[in-house]
Amino acid sequence: MALKLSDYKTDVHNDWCPGCGDFGILNAIQMALSDMQIPLHRAAIFSGIGCSGKTPHFIHTYGIHTLHGRVLPFAQGAKLSNPDLEILAVGGDGDGLGIGAGHFVSAGRRNVDMVYIIFNNAVYGLTKGQAAPTLKLGMKTKSLPQANVNNSVNPIALALVAGFTFIARGYSYDVRHLKDLIRKAVEHKGLAFIDVLQPCPTYNDINTKEWFQGLDNINPENGRQMPRIYKLEETGYDGVVYEPGEINTKMAKMIERSNEWGNRIPVGIFYKNEHIPTYQERIVARIPNYIENPPSKQHISDTNSKPTASINRLLEDLRVDK
Ligand code: SF4
Repeated sequence: MALKLSDYKTDVHNDWCPGCGDFGILNAIQMALSDMQIPLHRAAIFSGIGCSGKTPHFIHTYGIHTLHGRVLPFAQGAKLSNPDLEILAVGGDGDGLGIGAGHFVSAGRRNVDMVYIIFNNAVYGLTKGQAAPTLKLGMKTKSLPQANVNNSVNPIALALVAGFTFIARGYSYDVRHLKDLIRKAVEHKGLAFIDVLQPCPTYNDINTKEWFQGLDNINPENGRQMPRIYKLEETGYDGVVYEPGEINTKMAKMIERSNEWGNRIPVGIFYKNEHIPTYQERIVARIPNYIENPPSKQHISDTNSKPTASINRLLEDLRVDK
């Protein structure tokens, strides 16, 4: 029987602030899972700490609310243990690009076949709006006593140099476009990253919904308001690497677009490269039956609950005095 969108929703009380961009991202994830008809028991959503950390509570699949900045190690471990699962990791920009920045870079090197979505509002919303890693230098939100003294991280460029093989940006109030990006990220072979611009109406009074809509952004040529957000695909941009020889060219074009900010902000797929082996493929090269017999399918105890795993052989293999 076909799964309905409502099947992917829980009845857990949601206490996000009214108007928060998180709602759009949650809806887009549920719509993407529903579009793809992913069985509830075949998906697992992992989160870090922050307002976005509550996301797994609202999706009726497996959900694991982990530690601050540690969502990627948990999520990668789950995927490697059970390659049959569709894994989505979510978290804020503070969670993923502040305390979790080391894991972000390490994940890129591995290219585990899963999706990571950052809810990017440029502040630490859960703890009253301190400056997060994507807040621009010199910006003073209403939650800060003084302007931000640090420069900001460019998540799109960082993902590229770390080794992510699918890199996109969405906007939380364009739910259908974001849903399509999530679907493409899940279908991608390798590690996919989506940076989602997510207004926080409670603490970030600069990058608001009205700001992204461009209500103050007047086109000097015709005097009309101009939305800041535009779609890469509508400009002829194509970030797909069709053959390895064009990797450097595509990377250079992507970096150029990733630096656009201010009056024009691109969303869509910046980069997609399926020529890099996934971590699972690298494991299969060493352990040929890994996919048929991954750790999650191995018995760890007998019918009397006695552990069947033995580390003696492993210890013997590791001995250095042989
Ligand atoms: Fe959303 Fe900001 Fe409220 Fe957190 S503090 S729920 S990010 S509006």
